[in-house]
Amino acid sequence: MILRDKFFINGQWVAPSSKETIDVHNAGTGAVMGKVPAGIDKDVDAAVAAARAAFEGWSATPAADRAAYLQKISDGLKARAAELGSTIAQEVGMPIKLAGRIQAGLPIANFANYSKIASSFSFESKNGNSLVVREPVGVVGAITPWNYPLHQIALKVAPALAAGCTVVLKPSEVAPFNAFILAEVIEAAGLPKGVFNLVTGFGPAAGEALVKHPQVDMISFTGSTRAGKRISEVAAQTVKRVALELGGKSASVILEDADLAAAVKGTVTGCYLNSGQTCTALTRMLVPASKYDEAAKLAVEAAKGFTLGDPMSEATRLGPLSSQMQLERVRDYIKKGVAEGAELLTGGADQPDGLPGGYFVKPTIFGKVKNSMTIAQEEIFGPVLSIIAYQDEEEAVRIANDTPYGLAGAVWSTDDARAQKVARRIRAGQVDVNGGAFNMNAPFGGFKQSGHGREAGVYGLEEFLEYKSLQLKG
Ligand code: NAD
Repeated sequence: MILRDKFFINGQWVAPSSKETIDVHNAGTGAVMGKVPAGIDKDVDAAVAAARAAFEGWSATPAADRAAYLQKISDGLKARAAELGSTIAQEVGMPIKLAGRIQAGLPIANFANYSKIASSFSFESKNGNSLVVREPVGVVGAITPWNYPLHQIALKVAPALAAGCTVVLKPSEVAPFNAFILAEVIEAAGLPKGVFNLVTGFGPAAGEALVKHPQVDMISFTGSTRAGKRISEVAAQTVKRVALELGGKSASVILEDADLAAAVKGTVTGCYLNSGQTCTALTRMLVPASKYDEAAKLAVEAAKGFTLGDPMSEATRLGPLSSQMQLERVRDYIKKGVAEGAELLTGGADQPDGLPGGYFVKPTIFGKVKNSMTIAQEEIFGPVLSIIAYQDEEEAVRIANDTPYGLAGAVWSTDDARAQKVARRIRAGQVDVNGGAFNMNAPFGGFKQSGHGREAGVYGLEEFLEYKSLQLKG
């Protein structure tokens, strides 16, 4: 059992105001793996007061010194990489091998990357008679989800600190233990007190207290579109800046001249990563009607390669979902797919054999899906792929854009120029062309109801900066 009973506020581990705790479940077994405190407004008040008091000193600290702290944090996380990978594999259910590489590896890389970016970024420039200065926005409230828990945290905390902001982090109550490891690493790195603060709790209590707080200048949120809308409403009362990274329903558009086998394999892999609990998951596979039968066969074969099992086993390719709630949600969507007339090609809503505990769902593929069906419109956040046939390129683009979301997508064609042309027509923040690799410095974020603002690289740093113009006399 991991028992965490204190918050990290003002450089110290302090007791929470309420005795209420939150059970955290092991995704692979369903058992309670530990507890964290359920923070309330008083805890948030203390954390915000600490961050406010620390702001003046931290924002005036030279960028090169802030960069040195960030590198120290990256080194500290690296020293605990194995523990981070295993903790997150249990909290979230991602297979251990991948969890080590992605869930622990990306935050380590991002803190180091923001160390570099902070040391090279130009915080001021001349424009006519003005000196244009980039200043930190102030106290940042970071609210994060559970699917890539420390990665989402790193994409907020690292650039915010690099910019000179101070931070109050409210991580997901579903996967909070990794955030405590980060707080310990930050403490060991000797960051000045109050620069980084951690409060755990439920969204409507601790989360909203942070969003409402008049001393918080910006909320950086990653999570569901539902919570994002609520956060925008609440934040409007104090006119604070809000950055939202929300859900997605991304299309993988396979053009008729694509290498079909590679495109289908790439799409299924992109859909099933982290058991489909990835905001950029390629959940709609758009194929030319003439290639539908072949594509469906290839997809079912690819799905068979995703061995479902214990996330702690090296042989597992598909882990469980992260929670009971998620399990029920995903099963309901599968049932809805069947009820609305989609063809279940593999998988399904029933409990997989030999895996009684844990939140397991079989790798599922639906064929003959119409884009108007619920499974094609709503974010399922499980290992469920919908195959949709189209007649021509125009129709493919229209279907790709026909959801409320606009986070990501993919295009496949042997003609690179054609693929890029189609990619430009997709209304989404990131489109992979022929399986192009993930780039941690490329801007990441959504169009439409996938949110606003961009994370990662220099774009992520700029989110936490204000412009100021000093008009000079001559
Ligand atoms: P969620 O919205 O339920 O919770 C996210 C965080 O917000 C949690 O810390 C939660 O406690 C908090 N929260 C919930 N309600 C709140 C409120 N009213 N006020 C303040 N805080 C509140 O989302 P989740 O289930 O943890 O994560 C899954 C969702 O996140 C999916 O929709 C997924 O697409 C999205 N996501 C988006 C990205 C991206 O970058 N676009 C990345 C990862 C996940």
